[in-house]
Amino acid sequence: MHNTTRSQELFSAAQKLMPGGVSSPVRAFRSVGGQPIVFDRVKGAYAWDVDGNRYIDYIGSWGPAICGHAHPEVIGALHDALEKGTSFGAPCALENQLAEMVIDAVPSVEMVRFVNSGTEACMSVLRLMRAFTGREKIIKFEGCYHGHADMFLVKAGSGVATLGLPDSPGVPRTTAASTLTAPYNDLEAVKQLFAENPGEIAGVILEPIVGNAGFITPEPGFLEGIRELTKENGALLVFDEVMTGFRISYGGAQAKFGVTPDLTTMGKVIGGGLPVGAYGGRADIMSMVAPAGPMYQAGTLSGNPLAMTAGIKTLELLKQPGSYERLEAVTSRLINGIMEGARAAGLPITGGSVSAMFGFFLCEGPVRNFEEAKAADAERFGKVHRAMLERGIYLAPSAFEAGFTSLAHSDEDIDATIAAFRECFAAVA
Ligand SMILES: *Cc1c(COP(=O)(O)O)cnc(C)c1O
Repeated sequence: MHNTTRSQELFSAAQKLMPGGVSSPVRAFRSVGGQPIVFDRVKGAYAWDVDGNRYIDYIGSWGPAICGHAHPEVIGALHDALEKGTSFGAPCALENQLAEMVIDAVPSVEMVRFVNSGTEACMSVLRLMRAFTGREKIIKFEGCYHGHADMFLVKAGSGVATLGLPDSPGVPRTTAASTLTAPYNDLEAVKQLFAENPGEIAGVILEPIVGNAGFITPEPGFLEGIRELTKENGALLVFDEVMTGFRISYGGAQAKFGVTPDLTTMGKVIGGGLPVGAYGGRADIMSMVAPAGPMYQAGTLSGNPLAMTAGIKTLELLKQPGSYERLEAVTSRLINGIMEGARAAGLPITGGSVSAMFGFFLCEGPVRNFEEAKAADAERFGKVHRAMLERGIYLAPSAFEAGFTSLAHSDEDIDATIAAFRECFAAVA
């Protein structure tokens, strides 16, 4: 048993100070049992907790740490930027630089607005979809997460055409009612929603690879089909690439799949570990954003020099030749090892990876949507999670989260992880 006394002390103190002891609920380990580990520092592929235990980290701060934690070049650039001040509240050249990088990289983006989180990017893009089309309803997919704004906290009812019910108290029913939901990978359901709501749907928002219902990939033709349907119906298509942007490829999932949405949201990687989000897309749509146009959206700390610096440096590192080949190789090796380990233990498993994102479900596949994902054995996953933690492997504390690798994960890290999985699968079989 590894010793986590100090973590436990800090976490019990935290529970009196902050709701659930955390600043974001996913950190609380509620769905896997056990107590969260309190981190002291991170570097490369590793995290150290306050008791001095080292973990190989497959969360990477939930996405940003794609070059490895605290990369020396990112830290160095931040040191220099720090000397010039932490926030200007005025235009700075670094914003131009990051904007140009994003526009060059992401096919759909002709203009971009920086914000401070993925949530902010998604709620702003929603307002923009409505402002541009003059329509109010949107379609989202069951199991896709687009931040915690009211309109997105909606799950599907029993039927595909059912109006959504709010997932959280505090979300007005009237707000939730204009969010229509469909199962992921179900083109027919989306077609039906358009048919039932003629001229009322502002747009469709989706994760081009789902990472918030576990790891689920779009079936061939799904993204293309949604692109066609939105065009036919005068609705906008938004790819929420907060997770996939600069992770699936330098141009995001849209570059990988060759499907170009009208608008894109970003976050996580583009902030290089500092709070950044962004939304961008067609210039005619983005020109509606204030002060160029009438759609209001603002931010005191938006585009601040530290966040821009970390983003720029991170993208520069990713742009170097071979980065994505390396990420792909590391991640496919990992997921293949995990799947073999489960099969050797006689456990049902389905899973996969694309570039630096991976995931598995402890059930027979295929898993094409959230409903099918729910067949996964979450209790067994919880046991695996705890056993892995004791072996120094830090996995997302939920059976329904994707995993992330980084350029800092070595072949030795991957081998050690696969060996630990083998032991843990055998132990829970
Ligand atoms: C993380 C995430 C968000 C929310 O971003 P925050 O920075 O946590 O507000 C939105 N969409 C997707 C796809 C995400 O993975």
